[in-house]
Amino acid sequence: MAFFRRTSLTACLMAAVCTITPMAAEIGPGVSSLSPGDTYAEYQWGLENDGSLQLVEIRSRFANGGSAYDAPADGPHSGLPIPTGPGDYEVLTTNAAAGVDIDIAPAWELYDASQTNRDVVVAVIDTGVDILHPDLRNSIWTNDGEIPGDGIDNDGNGYVDDYFGWDFFYNDPSVFSMGSEEDTHGTHVAGTIAAGRNNGGVAGITGSEHVKIMVLKALGTSQGVGSPEDVVAAIHYAEANGASICNLSFCSNVYSQELADTIQNSSMLFVVAAGNGDESGTGVDIDSVPTYPASLPFDNVITVSNLMFDGNLASSSNYGALSADIAVPGSYIVSTIPGGYGFLSGTSMAAPMVTGAAALLYSYRPDYSLADVRNAILGSARQMDTLTGKVSSGGMLDVGAAFLWTKPEA
Ligand code: CA
Ligand code: CA
Repeated sequence: MAFFRRTSLTACLMAAVCTITPMAAEIGPGVSSLSPGDTYAEYQWGLENDGSLQLVEIRSRFANGGSAYDAPADGPHSGLPIPTGPGDYEVLTTNAAAGVDIDIAPAWELYDASQTNRDVVVAVIDTGVDILHPDLRNSIWTNDGEIPGDGIDNDGNGYVDDYFGWDFFYNDPSVFSMGSEEDTHGTHVAGTIAAGRNNGGVAGITGSEHVKIMVLKALGTSQGVGSPEDVVAAIHYAEANGASICNLSFCSNVYSQELADTIQNSSMLFVVAAGNGDESGTGVDIDSVPTYPASLPFDNVITVSNLMFDGNLASSSNYGALSADIAVPGSYIVSTIPGGYGFLSGTSMAAPMVTGAAALLYSYRPDYSLADVRNAILGSARQMDTLTGKVSSGGMLDVGAAFLWTKPEA
């Protein structure tokens, strides 16, 4: 059995060496002016980036870290300088570049003024999701054919009490493990897509009005592992219950023919994380070193790389001129976590921005097919020199431009 792993690096791992500080104390860097009711919106640089963020990293000058301190001056490591003080560390700063954001403001303006937005269900196949989170609970899909907790498969779909979706990992109707951290990843993904707007906390791309998250837990344990078989079952469930867009923020080096066939034959649009590099955390070209499902070459897949706020791909982000499609903010992303809010980084955080944008556009344009939505998102990507040859579109997500994209004449 092949195993998937989540494609995020936790901010916790980096917290010891990284701080992220707005340079302007009173005016936040993010979307507070667009979503003034959301307390943490000012840190959502991916939605609006005015260039005021700065990443400060304090690194030892020595690749082998502390061991350098033990190297004798005349020993085998004598080529290395002997550390003597504060100068043995270097401070690296990365400044944000204003405008490296997904340009959500004009899209929200059009969307909020429209009377014809349709309802859209987005499947999140991931760890579980904190469905009671105050910023998510209005955004969670429920199965109206099922009566929760009565022990009966009311809708006869083979799943008993699947009112809030299903847990394919533990094979039960509980899609959230309260008190454990194993559902942090899925909760973060869900918040980026569809957290409520202007209700405190963060601003989800779609808000909670027309877009609902179908929670399909297929990854479990603190490692976030799962099997292709469970993901396949979750995809079939999503389709059968009305989902049209599916977020897959995980990857595996093992190819599953069954999973590939299931995705290729699905009517859904899949948004997939490109993956976070090799064992050392260095991004790789997934055209030559494939990872799945990111490298699947299907017309209903968008594979997403992780853009840093300075306009460069994150060093850990996978890429590929054929296999990766678009770059999207994925580093230092604040979103919902069980019982609160937190920062995570990785292509796992980039993919749900595309999922949210796709759901918003699909809702806004009831005349669009999912293929139209994919063409709009990739065809309107903002071209950037740093992304040439790295992603098929050559650019980053621009939701405002996607809303103005015009379909070519047939
Ligand atoms: Ca059922
Ligand atoms: Ca909110």
